[in-house]
Amino acid sequence: MYQSLYRKYRPTTINDVVGQSIALKIIKNSLKNNKIGHAYLFSGPRGTGKTTMAKILAKSVNCLNLIDGISCEKCKNCVEINSNETVDIIEIDAASNNGVDEIREIRNSVSLSCSSLKYKIYIVDEVHMLTIGAFNALLKTLEEPPEHIIFILATTDVQKVPSTIISRCQCINFESISAINIKRRLQEISEKEGIKIEDNILMKIAEISNGGLRDAIGNLEKLIAASDEKMITLDIFNSTFGFADDILLNEFFNTIIENNINGMLSLSDTLYNSGKNYIIFVNEMITFVRNKIRIFYEKNNGICPYCDLVFQLDKLCNQLKNTDNIKALFEAGIINIICHFNDSIDNNQVIIQEKKENNSNHLIDKKIFHEQEVKKNSEKEKNFSSKKENSVLIENNEIIMNNTFALANKHDLQKIKEKWNKLNEYLLDQKNGSIACYLFDGNIRACGKNNIILSYEYDSMVNRGFDIYDSLIEFLNEVFNERYYLSLITDEQWKTAKDQYIQNVKNHVEYKIKELKTSETKIDTKQTQNFETMDEASLLFGEDIVEIK
Ligand SMILES: [Zn+2]
Repeated sequence: MYQSLYRKYRPTTINDVVGQSIALKIIKNSLKNNKIGHAYLFSGPRGTGKTTMAKILAKSVNCLNLIDGISCEKCKNCVEINSNETVDIIEIDAASNNGVDEIREIRNSVSLSCSSLKYKIYIVDEVHMLTIGAFNALLKTLEEPPEHIIFILATTDVQKVPSTIISRCQCINFESISAINIKRRLQEISEKEGIKIEDNILMKIAEISNGGLRDAIGNLEKLIAASDEKMITLDIFNSTFGFADDILLNEFFNTIIENNINGMLSLSDTLYNSGKNYIIFVNEMITFVRNKIRIFYEKNNGICPYCDLVFQLDKLCNQLKNTDNIKALFEAGIINIICHFNDSIDNNQVIIQEKKENNSNHLIDKKIFHEQEVKKNSEKEKNFSSKKENSVLIENNEIIMNNTFALANKHDLQKIKEKWNKLNEYLLDQKNGSIACYLFDGNIRACGKNNIILSYEYDSMVNRGFDIYDSLIEFLNEVFNERYYLSLITDEQWKTAKDQYIQNVKNHVEYKIKELKTSETKIDTKQTQNFETMDEASLLFGEDIVEIK
């Protein structure tokens, strides 16, 4: 029968566990000193060994010849547990059994004595998934467990475990396993399996596994399955995990230095559609930029403009490891990098030179770039025609800001903020992902009826909003079934506008509703607001905004 590598090489004693030195020390000491608790809570990221440790602990407390806190693997109990013959170790996956019934059954069965072992162990995996009712039932059991019962609860999301449960458990934290430690373990396994694989590929596997050993071993297994002989090459790694080629990396690099956010977004779609791994891609991008830096210093002195890019990309890479919305975060992160990069460049000479070289590179593979060039040209045309409409857009932007202030109230603001969360569902949407991402990234500052002031950190983000303004409105209409009026400004502009607003309120200056230049819907011009007192003004946004000295 085929056994997965993860199961095959799962540690059986504390000494085999990889990493987790703190957790190991706590458990080993309590075993050595015979100070065993009745309830443990293991928390930490997925694949870091919580369930494995729970099983080892279950075996160790039952071992009849425990030596220095390590199970003997020979006694009757060790043998029985290792061959999975015991009924005294009960595993419950709360992710699939989150009902009260299962826990109630535990409550009934805890009073029964063990069938063969010293201790009866309940291992509840992903305990945070239990329903409130099940938690309450569990709590009752945890309050006074019989002597022979030990609960080991495990969770990847300790925030969701009620504090009443946590306070009754001995809590042990499991950390992400370092890439070096994962690599070492992969190396051992490869050697035992007779697999030929180079060090740098093992390191790559470790890096893309986000500190989870289970995922890392799973990834190694995928590579073994993809290789004909027992040899894993870089090509196999690249084709299995969607490794970026140099042309794609070069194109991507160009979008950053050319301040081409639209181009970057369409490349991100290409990445996404071809199933490439974003974390690997960013890692490769770092190597790519490092080569650029090397080339720079072969020709120049002074500060290379790409050095900061490496830091930024590395930061993004770490952020990507902790998100479920990887595409959205990747795009938002790169947009940030693009804006940062193009804002901070003083010496444009290098970039201009780079662009020239890039243009000649473009000729090398016309076929590959053809599609993207066509796309770029049509975008250019769009930009050109939008410039003519730009003045109207800017003017309306001011009007909408004015109208928002005229109609603003705290209730509408709260309501729209709640509604905005719905955009979350569209972040990974093929068609509207980048639009949803853009809207989601904005800070909702004020809202009155359907007028919203949205602010962004950078000027370039605001400009991008103007470029896709119609799509933003259309998308909001599609999601909420309502016409919204957006005023897009920078955070800095918001500060000024807010100060002005407070000043106007103090001086009893009215905000009058103005009509939009190309408005489809007429706004009721009779509706105006007049502030008699500061109290009324503070009602609009909440106390935090209107501060009187
Ligand atoms: Zn034993």
